[in-house]
Amino acid sequence: MSALNAESTAFRSALDVVRAVEPRIADAIAKELHDQRESLKLIASENYASPAVLLAMGNWLSDKYAEGTIGRRFYAGCQNVDTVEAIAVEHAKELFGAPYAYVQPHSGIDANLVAYWAILADRVEAPALAKAQKRNVNDLTDAEWAELRAAFGNQRMLGMSLDAGGHLTHGFRPNISGKMFDQRSYGVDPATGQIDYAALRETAREFRPLVIVGGYSAYPRKVNFRIMREIADEVGATFMVDMAHFAGLVAGKVFTGDFDPVPHAHIVTTTTHKSLRGPRGGAVLCQPELSDQVDRGCPMVLGGPLAHVMAAKAVAFAEARQPDFAGYAQRIVDNAQALAEGLTRRGATLVSGGTDNHLVLIDVDKYGLTGRQAEQALLDSGVVTNRNAIPQDPNGAWYTSGIRIGTPALTSRGLGTAEMDQIAELMHTVLTQTKPGASKAKFDLDPAVADRVSKQATELLAEFPLYPQVDLG
Ligand code: PLP
Repeated sequence: MSALNAESTAFRSALDVVRAVEPRIADAIAKELHDQRESLKLIASENYASPAVLLAMGNWLSDKYAEGTIGRRFYAGCQNVDTVEAIAVEHAKELFGAPYAYVQPHSGIDANLVAYWAILADRVEAPALAKAQKRNVNDLTDAEWAELRAAFGNQRMLGMSLDAGGHLTHGFRPNISGKMFDQRSYGVDPATGQIDYAALRETAREFRPLVIVGGYSAYPRKVNFRIMREIADEVGATFMVDMAHFAGLVAGKVFTGDFDPVPHAHIVTTTTHKSLRGPRGGAVLCQPELSDQVDRGCPMVLGGPLAHVMAAKAVAFAEARQPDFAGYAQRIVDNAQALAEGLTRRGATLVSGGTDNHLVLIDVDKYGLTGRQAEQALLDSGVVTNRNAIPQDPNGAWYTSGIRIGTPALTSRGLGTAEMDQIAELMHTVLTQTKPGASKAKFDLDPAVADRVSKQATELLAEFPLYPQVDLG
């Protein structure tokens, strides 16, 4: 019998240890690997982190409290957390060419909250801040939120609209950012599906926001951050970019010059788990003048840092600094463009007509379907996507008229442009064979078609094993 490799030994042993305490959890973890291996994952915000990233999280760094910053902690005995955080910061700064990096945020939402608070603290009168800190925000009524916003001088945020691809944390009411700021949105030109910078400039001149937010969750094009910074300077706004989705394309130098947010923005936030292929988490990069405020992320917004996750972020940043990451990032875009071309050739309508990045937005109204119907029909056929609003969506944010697909995960798995064309064919089959039902959620799809597509998807994936180095036995 040949010896097991290091990854198989590590994961098998870890599962054995967990199984001895709670076998159902060990089984769920093992089943997740099985299910991920079987699934044709086109979710634009997901990826597959390396075994090194995953293993860096499963250890006793998790046991340590380390509130504060490197070398200035509120707890004793933080020397190893200091080491871990300093290495993660060093890699993040080098990777993105950023003057300052803060790697404590537990998620993208947390990173945005740290950034917003840093901007408010930097720009707004201290008495208003003091007032806010005394309040228990959970108990605030709408009227009290209005009072609080007034205490901050009714500061304004200009972010991308949700239907154009913006994120809830860019000033929308269900998120706290929409309670902290008066928000106005910029959208896309209906004719091109792309940002209309002249309209954005006009809105900024009229609205005079404190913050302009660039970045998106579902916009399939490059963004010119140089122009956005010019607009911010013109109206005296702080320019923030949330690069959660495309951080991997920045790290891999696919987005450079005007399209790299780091040299243009005052502050940049990101997640680490999407195209960047790290652990689930967030980070903030900023110009030196904002660093003191950003460092107050804990305890202002965050609890004790997750040292085990910071260790995994350091590993992921180190991986992204390897020369082959640039090739990976370029393949993500090549694959997205091949998928877009394959769909268009088969008659699909894409928002903005194509893609420059890792994601594609299909207008499924073309097939007489809602996003909800299309998402479920594809899922029943073994193709995992998510529904998404499209610009001026008549079906709103719940049912939607769009399907968002992305290539970071399948590119990690090794699929290339030829396979993207096959996937376009599978999706075309499902979308053209699905008929709308009695409600916006119901549809008819011949189970034989769903079965056939599902089998073809499984056959395709079999050629590209996921985590081939991990054998759980
Ligand atoms: N910012 C953007 C642009 C996102 O797309 C997302 C997640 O989808 C987030 C922030 C939030 O990230 P997290 O889920 O890690 O809080």
